Amino acid sequence: MTVRVATLGFPRIGGRRELKKALESFWAGNSSEAELLETAAALRKENWTRQKEQGADIIPSNDFSLYDHVLDTSALVGAVPEIYGHKGGKVDLTTYFAMARGRQVSGEHPAHDQSHDCSCQHQHATDVPAAEMTKWFDTNYHFLVPEFKAGQSFRLSSTKIIDDYKEAKAQGIETRPVLLGPVSFLLLGKAHGAAFNKLDLLPALLPVYHEVLQALHQAGAEWVQIDEPTLVLDLDDAARKAFAHAYQSLNKAVPGIKLFLTTYFGGLGDNLETALSLPVQGLHIDLVRAPQQLNDVVAKARPDLLLSLGVIDGRNIWKADLSKIIAQIAPIAEKRDIIVAPSCSLLHTPIDLERETQLDAEVKNWLAFAVQKIAELATIAKALNQGHESVKAILDASDAAVQSRKASTRIHNQEVKKRAAQKDAKLTQRQSPFPTRQKAQEDALKLPLFPTTTIGSFPQTKEVRQARARHAKKELSTQDYVAFLKKETESAIKWQEEVGLDVLVHGEFERNDMVQYFGEKLSGFVFTKHAWVQSYGSRYVRPPIIFGDVSRPAAMTLDWWQYAQSCSKKPVKGMLTGPVTILNWSFVRDDQPRSETCRQIAFAIRDEVQDLEKAGCGVIQIDEAALREGLPLRRKDWQHYLDWAVESFRITASGVQDKTQIHTHMCYSEFNDIIEAIAAMDTDVISIETARSKMELLEAFTHHKYPSEIGPGVYDIHSPRVPSVEEMVELLRAAEKKVSRRQLWVNPDCGLKTRNWAEVRPAIANMVKAAEILRG
Ligand code: GLN
Ligand code: ZN
Repeated sequence: MTVRVATLGFPRIGGRRELKKALESFWAGNSSEAELLETAAALRKENWTRQKEQGADIIPSNDFSLYDHVLDTSALVGAVPEIYGHKGGKVDLTTYFAMARGRQVSGEHPAHDQSHDCSCQHQHATDVPAAEMTKWFDTNYHFLVPEFKAGQSFRLSSTKIIDDYKEAKAQGIETRPVLLGPVSFLLLGKAHGAAFNKLDLLPALLPVYHEVLQALHQAGAEWVQIDEPTLVLDLDDAARKAFAHAYQSLNKAVPGIKLFLTTYFGGLGDNLETALSLPVQGLHIDLVRAPQQLNDVVAKARPDLLLSLGVIDGRNIWKADLSKIIAQIAPIAEKRDIIVAPSCSLLHTPIDLERETQLDAEVKNWLAFAVQKIAELATIAKALNQGHESVKAILDASDAAVQSRKASTRIHNQEVKKRAAQKDAKLTQRQSPFPTRQKAQEDALKLPLFPTTTIGSFPQTKEVRQARARHAKKELSTQDYVAFLKKETESAIKWQEEVGLDVLVHGEFERNDMVQYFGEKLSGFVFTKHAWVQSYGSRYVRPPIIFGDVSRPAAMTLDWWQYAQSCSKKPVKGMLTGPVTILNWSFVRDDQPRSETCRQIAFAIRDEVQDLEKAGCGVIQIDEAALREGLPLRRKDWQHYLDWAVESFRITASGVQDKTQIHTHMCYSEFNDIIEAIAAMDTDVISIETARSKMELLEAFTHHKYPSEIGPGVYDIHSPRVPSVEEMVELLRAAEKKVSRRQLWVNPDCGLKTRNWAEVRPAIANMVKAAEILRG
């Protein structure tokens, strides 16, 4: 029986971030549409050739996108909300980018200008706002949410998928076009206007899918990869029926084309029967996230169903244990033809490890990026097709890398492991319950009612970014750089005093990114130079790699806090990133449970908290911006995650005295389903994002009688708008109706690093005035 290699999608951004440059230059009006499309075509060609060279037998097309593949699907089926003024016919680039980024007269702010460390919906005040963006399952990739209205129609409005297929064919490369399946497309969208069931739109949508499949068939495509990742989510019967209906319809309408139903990011679980009952010719399953489903799927799949086994992690950067994988699937490969593939699209991994010439050689030997992962698959296939001997040298090297990771003292630090293994309840318990602490904190801090503060960062101006870049390039000495940062910090402190804030912050001018800053100071992390992955559109991030046991060689933030506090008599908050957020925004080691890695980070942060307290810091904020986004895809797995996430947070926060006030910040808004966990974090103050929703979000806190203090954001920091005093007073009055006066803090929605001072100064001045009015 034969084993072939498939890939499900390749990073689009280009090894030298060519796509980013081309897009941004086009948006700025510095290059033409033709130039942009030329770059895109060159990238596609390079990606196809590269995958082929690495040994992929089945190569995708239409995985490339100028912005986002879900947006491409909306364009394909003509799901363009009315506000974009699309008049039918092909969705042109202007409309496409208007949906992606909004359209505005001044063209001054791109619609999505947030750095990655914010999980909010990135929108600006524009003439036509961008479509909503949200996270693609539990990855850090964001897609543009399709928007549907009741009874809407669909029409084939893009030929991209067909064009791309033909383009590859003309280059002599036969591809398997990728199409987001109709059920997932509908389920991922949102219903606009009066409530209705999105799946009711299926009969209107399917004819467009028929047309697309027909056109691909005519163009010569044998297979289409049809992605239905929602099959790994909790589905109800209606959704399962929709799958049955959709695939019967596709199969009947275009019997000539073979469908490769593709699932990833988890196991099929209770949707397995549904998936196996669909009239498709191939099925891809994720065996990295859900290795346990292999036997079940193999046992129950029709003998003629071609199985694609996702054995290489498409979401992480570690070399695979090739010998183990080969041993595991050899018995299956004896009985049926199979395909081996990455667990999901390689979109979520960096492109090529070879470019990391400065990476520590030992660590580098443990890694594999997209290109290397395809080579790993080729080795697996060759071993199974032609015997181990045919790839002996490669397998030996792979085994050696696996062994070296298991044994390396760079990774394994017994002291750290021992500390993290402690189960003493005192480690997660503050000295007294909240009411006692609240009293102690009132005595110590003597804050007014409605205390005002900010979330931490102040504008990262051009000067700040330039100084950092020049320091990195050694054009600016460390001494001069530090002096510059001190000046910035001092003037931020002086301004905060003048404007009348109660609890000050140092401004985070020294931080490039709220996770990277800490990663660079902790041991167990490495950083790359070129390992970018797409966050959304032209925004890419370079997540830190947590490769080993995490510890804190020295204090990380103490200097800056001390310096800032030395400039003022008012309390300055210590500002830390929490363990769950550091974990969720990094590539995490896969040789131990994530919970363990998180616990190790928690102890490191705990030490920092205690150092701050010892130095006299009375208010410490531990940001957990990414706690919610780490929620598992299936509800049954939520509690376990929340338990260890909350426990890690409590480890960081529990070593302090009653009078030390612990804050946390979360920049999102849906708390209803995790409010118990939020309460269990047992913080003294939490700040959340509420400005846009007009305090609706506070509902969860009222409902659950949230015990401690809350700062519901009154300033939407994702907009350049300066909110008025009246507006913020109104928001606070609304908040006052939901939680008691004594509980309320006054602050913006999130950090201010993406804003400029001309906006921040008047906005914060208004915020302080609003608080004064509320105090009466
Ligand atoms: N303290 C961080 C800041 O103000 C918090 C950012 C965030 O939660 N995304 O920038
Ligand atoms: Zn935030």
